[in-house]
Amino acid sequence: MDKKTGTYICSGCGIGDALDADKLCELATKEYKVDLCRIHPSLCGEEGAQVIKKDIEDGVNTVVIAACSPRAKSDSFSYDTTTTVLERVNLREHVIWTHPSDDEDTQMLAEDYLRMGLARAQKVSPPEPFQEAIDKTILVVGGGISGLSSALGAAKAGYEVCLVEKSPSLGGWMTKLYKQFPKHPPYHELEDTGIEAKIKEVEENPRIKIFVGTEIEKIEGAPGMFDVQLRQNGNQSNLKAGAIVQATGFTPYDASKLDSLGFGKCPDVITTLQMEEIAQEGKIKRPSDGKEAESVAFILCAGSRDENHLTYCSSVCCLTALKQALYVRQQNPDSKVYILYKDIRTPAQYEDFYSWVQEDGSVVFARGEVLNITEDGGKGLVVEFNDVLLGEVIAVKADMVVLATGMVPNSVPGEVQLAKADSGTTAGEEASAEIAPDSGFYASPALHLKYRQGPELPTLKYGFPDSHFICFPYETRRTGIYAAGCVRQPADSAVSVEDATGAALKAIQCVELTARGYAVHPRTWDQTYPDLFMQRCTQCKRCTEECPFGVYNEDEKFNPLPNPTRCRRCAICMGSCPERIISFKDYSVDIISSMIKAIEVPDEFEEKPRVVAFLCENDAYPALDIAGINRLAYNPYVRVIPVRCLGSVNIVWIADALSKGIDGILMIGCKYGDDYQCHFVKGSELADYRMEKVQETLTRLVLEKDRLQVHQLSISEYEKLPQIFDDFLKRMEEIGPNPYKEL
Ligand code: SF4
Ligand code: SF4
Repeated sequence: MDKKTGTYICSGCGIGDALDADKLCELATKEYKVDLCRIHPSLCGEEGAQVIKKDIEDGVNTVVIAACSPRAKSDSFSYDTTTTVLERVNLREHVIWTHPSDDEDTQMLAEDYLRMGLARAQKVSPPEPFQEAIDKTILVVGGGISGLSSALGAAKAGYEVCLVEKSPSLGGWMTKLYKQFPKHPPYHELEDTGIEAKIKEVEENPRIKIFVGTEIEKIEGAPGMFDVQLRQNGNQSNLKAGAIVQATGFTPYDASKLDSLGFGKCPDVITTLQMEEIAQEGKIKRPSDGKEAESVAFILCAGSRDENHLTYCSSVCCLTALKQALYVRQQNPDSKVYILYKDIRTPAQYEDFYSWVQEDGSVVFARGEVLNITEDGGKGLVVEFNDVLLGEVIAVKADMVVLATGMVPNSVPGEVQLAKADSGTTAGEEASAEIAPDSGFYASPALHLKYRQGPELPTLKYGFPDSHFICFPYETRRTGIYAAGCVRQPADSAVSVEDATGAALKAIQCVELTARGYAVHPRTWDQTYPDLFMQRCTQCKRCTEECPFGVYNEDEKFNPLPNPTRCRRCAICMGSCPERIISFKDYSVDIISSMIKAIEVPDEFEEKPRVVAFLCENDAYPALDIAGINRLAYNPYVRVIPVRCLGSVNIVWIADALSKGIDGILMIGCKYGDDYQCHFVKGSELADYRMEKVQETLTRLVLEKDRLQVHQLSISEYEKLPQIFDDFLKRMEEIGPNPYKEL
């Protein structure tokens, strides 16, 4: 691209009062030889926008706007990305709102940011969107309440849907329920499940093709171009899909592991699922002798929130027990029900249902721990219970005991991987461990993906396949494949329907963005994708292993084979590549190196040290903007470079910064771990792991390892950033200037 660069300095919002805008213009013109530089009192206003528009019409194709944060006024500064390069220099939030006006250091900060922006603009080229013929069919895997709802949602929005269910009929667990707990005010009456009507609606929808008794043999390809191979009654068939919703549900926790609660030993100890079957048949009778049950004890959290079984809460077991208490009470008004609980969890309006059941004086609630269950010589069961509210051990006599067991998602991987997740393996170790299990590793394999990184969705610690439950629900670590219902989180039918609708919308968003050559969340505006200069690839496999989204397959010689539409554009592969051969049109090792090299490093350290701070654009960079909005002042010697993800930081940038004479490097990314928020799943953790190695290298080179620090921060912790900067500069003063400064 033959660049014609226009630089626009806004003097509005106080920028013109705090800074010498003429000097900035002079810098752009003299040092960077820009074609034109204009100072305008309000670039985001109508007249300012017209000035830039007119220049673009007259041939400017590279627009550098030095004004507010790139996160502000994006509508005002929006141009055709395929013909115009746009660079935003943050003079407002990161300079004048956080540093004193009319000050030498503040002016130097603004000048460095302008240099960095101009250096970047020189190297960036417009994207060439990846656009191939794509199929917009939505494949829904699983025909329970979530799968049916996703299929209907997508079909009603006008998309063709293929619904694949491995059992011979649709409906899933809902068909096994006698009633469901109330979904409507006043939350008193049990309701029919409504599943038959839902199945009928799906069967009658002309956009939905149903495949029951069908398994997926394999899925190849990428969003917009998945090739799906099915097997039905021994016959093979193929279909194409653009995006996938996995709604393969759950399996009830294996009650045979609950022998301490009498299951398997006493025939009258059953699970809530068995209770549904009994209720569907008519009278509630105890299994051992068919006698009508006059007293029933429900044990909540049976094998849940228990470190020896499921450590999490399955969210619906309490409600199921309350519902089944009414089955017993409504059939036999003389019956007695005991609900033995650790805690009762009835979220939102379901609390009204709980209160309603509490009003029945024949339903007794007791809080504590079950000590023992024994048979009483044919007269029933005796539950010994340590009642923590009464402070004594009580014995409850009952004809039947019902265990409210939890849900295990059908995405759960084998025991080995669960144990590994529990052991706190780091992202770096995980990546180098090359986990690529086959389908047999999973209890209920569903997708059989032909991906280098494994055949099923990667999961969180407990086997649920979410990728970022705070910002991007339904998204998984496989782009274009969305999880809904109990495979994503323990859920009742209402939550499952909501999930299913959300996942269907995500799938639709995916096919539409892919068709136009854009990335999916979070960089939905991004039309770039990784470009590999393969002549220099050493087949080290870092990119294929460390990409959080399984973008790369491999050929037989271990060459990486990218699938651009699977890519989320995090650039973690760029950070991992030791040969530095992965780049994007607007983000590359060279582009960021040029920004570092553009910083002016004064000789006099005592007065003016310099620090480069790589801030993740997802949390840390917006947090610094918020600090600016709140006018939180911080050290003027820090030069911030936004990065797509901390995992995209290539270690050569550390070397570039140190050899330039920069005194220290800060890296601030998203939090990770059990409550993790890294927007690219493991980028922040990978950066931490890699930088530990860099710190070791610094020590070997007799450089203080503190010259590099890595921090994690959530967006709400914006007030901590000034302190992090100030503390780091204090440390730099303690350890003195970078010795390379003098070379
Ligand atoms: S940019 Fe991110 S998602 Fe794309 S290939 Fe690289 S590591 Fe994978
Ligand atoms: S990380 Fe770089 S050198 Fe290694 S396989 Fe990938 S592209 Fe090749």
